Amino acid sequence: MRLIDCARQARSHAYAPYSGFSCGAAVAAGGKVYSASNVENASYGLSCCAERIAIFRAVTEGQRNIDAVAVVGGGDTPPLPCGACLQVIAEFATDDIPIALACEEGTTVTYRLEQLLPCPFQLEQGGTS
Ligand code: ZN
Repeated sequence: MRLIDCARQARSHAYAPYSGFSCGAAVAAGGKVYSASNVENASYGLSCCAERIAIFRAVTEGQRNIDAVAVVGGGDTPPLPCGACLQVIAEFATDDIPIALACEEGTTVTYRLEQLLPCPFQLEQGGTS
């Protein structure tokens, strides 16, 4: 199954009673696919995006190198990952990995991580505090 289809399938499990925005994500790492949906909470700040949950699933199973990411959302335009998710992707990926984005129906657009997050935070940069 294509990575984008794994994300689409994961979207069906989204728990999004507050925003109504159901999202699914899938990451390829170590020859495996890890997928997840977004999970919201009545205490909004505790909600978590599908991308981060999928990555955390991969990491907790020993993966440290993500090869590709796919995200599927509702609406008319492909969902862009939020800044927090992009930073988490950057922690475990090179800046040229593909990030495929799609609506439930319609075309898929693909970016490279460096296009969506050109200047990720790096602890070694220093000088900011
Ligand atoms: Zn996010």
